[in-house]
Amino acid sequence: MRIFAVGRNYQDHISELKNQKPSAPVVFTKPDTAILRNNAPFYYPSFSKDIHHEVELVIRISKEGKSIEEKFASKYYDAVAIGIDFTARDLQDELKKQGLPWDIAKGFNGSAPLSEFIPLDEIKDIHHLSFSLKLNNNTVQQGSTQDMIFGIDGIISYISTFFTLRKGDVIFTGTPSGVGPVKIGDRLIAYLEDKEMLNFEIK
Ligand code: MG
Repeated sequence: MRIFAVGRNYQDHISELKNQKPSAPVVFTKPDTAILRNNAPFYYPSFSKDIHHEVELVIRISKEGKSIEEKFASKYYDAVAIGIDFTARDLQDELKKQGLPWDIAKGFNGSAPLSEFIPLDEIKDIHHLSFSLKLNNNTVQQGSTQDMIFGIDGIISYISTFFTLRKGDVIFTGTPSGVGPVKIGDRLIAYLEDKEMLNFEIK
């Protein structure tokens, strides 16, 4: 499986990082070694002093496809999860300044904690689905799929223009505002609607 991710997909988050609103989805990837499952702790890496949390809705691709038309995209995913797109903001800021690729700031070990998946048929309305993140019991991020700049179907269509999507691939769909630093000892709890999806510690 592969991990695709979309950046700058919520206007309030674009504003907080003073980025430009993109005219097409900003796509990047993480290696599968980034995934943390079963609420495994995240070990703060030595190469960064500014690791940020980004809570995101994640979709799971259910069959192979390329150049998928947007109107057919809903046939290509079957489940959703919550993930954290951990970002070494200090490294990313430096790389962005130099116009260089972000990979090491986004794809490092453990940078993609991922919850269990919930089948789509248990989701009431994918287009009005809320999710949130608590940092040490304070809600720091809240989002809804209705506020995405590029919707799920558009993202699938766009990514599949360049990369053949395969069953089991996952797509992180972008973070709402409220991103910020974590530190050793913090606990992150993420929710899909009211359901607890992730609950793990920074070590
Ligand atoms: Mg992100």
